[in-house]
Amino acid sequence: MNILITGASRGIGRATAILAGARGWNVGVNYANDATAAEATVQAVQQAGGQAIAIQADVSQEADVLALFDAMEKHFGSIQGVVVNAGINATSMPLAEMAVERLRKVFDTNVLGAYICAREAARRFPASSSSERKSSSTSIVLLSSAAARLGSPNECVDYAGCKGAIDTLAIGLAKELGPKGVRVNAVRPGIINTEIHASVGDPERLERIGNQTPLGRPGSAEEVAEAIVWLLSPQASYVTGTNIDVTGGR
Ligand code: NAP
Repeated sequence: MNILITGASRGIGRATAILAGARGWNVGVNYANDATAAEATVQAVQQAGGQAIAIQADVSQEADVLALFDAMEKHFGSIQGVVVNAGINATSMPLAEMAVERLRKVFDTNVLGAYICAREAARRFPASSSSERKSSSTSIVLLSSAAARLGSPNECVDYAGCKGAIDTLAIGLAKELGPKGVRVNAVRPGIINTEIHASVGDPERLERIGNQTPLGRPGSAEEVAEAIVWLLSPQASYVTGTNIDVTGGR
C-alpha cells in the first residue's frame, strides 16, 4: 500500500509512518519546515521494513498540496491511503484576546489545509469496480481532537473549532465517497505526548491534564498511530464515517 501522511516529520504523523513501514507499506513523509526531522522519519520507516520519501509542502497552500500528491504518485504510483494529520496549535488565551493573524493561521492550516488534502485524495482515488468496492481498499484518515467536543475554553477555541470542522468533514465525505469504495474516518486524540504542546506556552499542561484522565496519564503518539493504521488497513474494510477517540477516557 502507498500511504501519504501530512505532518510526518514528528509526533503522531511520524509514529504512524513507522508503524506503516512495519507493515511493509510505502510512505510519503510530508513536512513543512524541518527537513532533517523528516529525513529521520524516512530512515526509521526503512528500518521498520517499509520504503519512504520525504516531501516538503505547506498544506495550507494549494499549489504545494498538488505538488505533494504529484511527487508521491511519481515515486510510488497510485495512492491507497492519505492521513490528513498536519496541524498546529497556538498560545493559550481566551477568544477575546486572539489576533486575526493567529486565527487565520490556525484555520488555514487545520481546516483549509485538511480540506485541500482530503479534496486531492477524493479527486485522485480511482472509482472502484463493484467487486473492488466490497474490499474498500482506499481510505482517508483525518486527525480530529477531543478538543472538538470539549471546546477548549480560555485555551484554544479556534483550534477546537477547527477540529469540529474535521469531525463534520469525516461524516460528509464518507457519504460522498462511499459509493466510490473510498472509506473516510477520523481519529480524535486526547492529551498525547508530542511537541505540539510546546506551542501553547504551558509546559505543565501535558502531565496536568493527562493525569486527570480516567487512565491517569497522557497518551503516546504510538498509541494513536495504532488506531490510524488499523483504519487504513483491510481489517477496517467495513468502517467508514466514524470517529475513534484515543483519549484515555477523557
Ligand atoms: P506535532 O508533533 O506538532 O507535529 C506536527 C506536524 O505537522 C509536524 O510534522 C509539522 O512539520 C507538520 N506541520 C505543521 N504545519 C504544517 C503545514 N502547514 N504543512 C505541512 N506540515 C505541517 O503535532 P502532533 O501532536 O503530532 O499532532 C498531529 C495531529 O494530531 C494534529 O492534527 C493535531 O491537531 C492532532 N492532535 C494532537 C494531539 C496531541 O495531544 N498531541 C491531540 C489531539 C489532536 P514541520 O515541523 O516540518 O513544520
